[in-house]
Amino acid sequence: MQPSFYLKAFDCDDAEGQVLLFSLKKASIIRVPKELFCSLQNGNLPQDKENQLFKLGMAVENQEAEKREMLSFFDRLNRKNTQLHITAVLNLDCNFDCIYCYEGSDKGRLYMAHQTADRLMDFIRDNFTKEKNSLRLDFYGGEPLLSMDLIRYISSAATDFTGSMDADCRLTLVTNGSLLKPRIAKELAHLGVNRARITIDGPAYTHNQSRPFKNGAGSFDTIINNIRQACDLIKIGIGGNFEKHNYRQFPALLDYLLDTDLTPDKIGPVKFDPVMKAPEDDTSIPEYYGGCASLNESWIREAEEFLREEILKRGYATQKVRPVTCMVDVSDSWVVHYDGTLYKCPAFIGKSGFEAGDLESGILDYNATYQTEHWRNERCAECEYLPLCFGGCRYIAYVREGGIGTLDCRKDYLDARLEGLVKQDARYAQKA
Ligand code: SF4
Ligand code: SF4
Repeated sequence: MQPSFYLKAFDCDDAEGQVLLFSLKKASIIRVPKELFCSLQNGNLPQDKENQLFKLGMAVENQEAEKREMLSFFDRLNRKNTQLHITAVLNLDCNFDCIYCYEGSDKGRLYMAHQTADRLMDFIRDNFTKEKNSLRLDFYGGEPLLSMDLIRYISSAATDFTGSMDADCRLTLVTNGSLLKPRIAKELAHLGVNRARITIDGPAYTHNQSRPFKNGAGSFDTIINNIRQACDLIKIGIGGNFEKHNYRQFPALLDYLLDTDLTPDKIGPVKFDPVMKAPEDDTSIPEYYGGCASLNESWIREAEEFLREEILKRGYATQKVRPVTCMVDVSDSWVVHYDGTLYKCPAFIGKSGFEAGDLESGILDYNATYQTEHWRNERCAECEYLPLCFGGCRYIAYVREGGIGTLDCRKDYLDARLEGLVKQDARYAQKA
């Protein structure tokens, strides 16, 4: 046996003679004596330890074979994928006027028509191949709760369909939270929409500056009141968009949540992301809530580590360090725009040239448009960070370079940050 090519070892700060092993491909963490790690490196592990480290993805028969296998990661994932994942953009309307929103000329009273919703359901039926046993449907906007009729219509059709296929149906919502009144939350839960992600940009004074209602009034109190009354009905995760000048104020939001009884047992994962820059002359929707991207600037690294620590130390869950799967590389993952156009990633909706088909005429070959295999190159093939990166975020590359052909390389970021992140995860897993 050999050490996995995707294995990192970090000295333990609190235990001399121990190392923390982290498998980048399985996201497994274990603390072992240094001698054991040396045995792994020298290929003379005792049998029981060899079996254990093999299961954790830390020991492999052959590193070269492992690297080749990693290059076909998405082929295998796509072959075995039992889930169809649809993000449905129900409208481009919103009752907020966020300062970083640059929807520009696209923003307004543009709503998905019922006829388009019917076509969306046809698309789901057609693409729910016999290998599928689960449908995930995320309602997205604009503000999706402005389209409650459509949520009712699509949710019922989706659950009827999955019921007839004896399949799972997971319905979720990304919302600004202002319209999530108790009556609506109850109805959503009844429809099977049992998860929502709400954006709060820090404590009241920063949030109200960033995310006011259209009339300029602050939205913080409304959102918190709604969460308080909805959190027993729907699992609510919290996101937030920070900037360089305000990220240090975000812990005050976490304290406020604790003080007002929105404790970790009542709230789902919390994750804050930097506000993304828009490409020049952009008029499409900027706000992507997936949180799978971050910019490679040093203040962002500091901010992420700082905020992650503040979240974890208060007992809230947050995203662990784990392999990434960009939606672009997952073949059964689609974004359906309000007008029926298909995209591969929510960050690209409305951007001319990034259409991947439409509900009427079907799916186009999007491989060149989205550079689906851009990470299959010599440099990435020899990079230990491949499972955590796969070429990075195409949207960030697009923002930075004006095209998505180039890599959004995470090497410097991971060189600087991975040890701290893994140690954070290990520390808080121990406390749990
Ligand atoms: S391109 Fe970027 S934002 Fe879009 S799904 Fe992939 S990682 Fe996420
Ligand atoms: S883009 Fe950079 S960090 Fe990512 S896999 Fe390729 S070489 Fe590694």
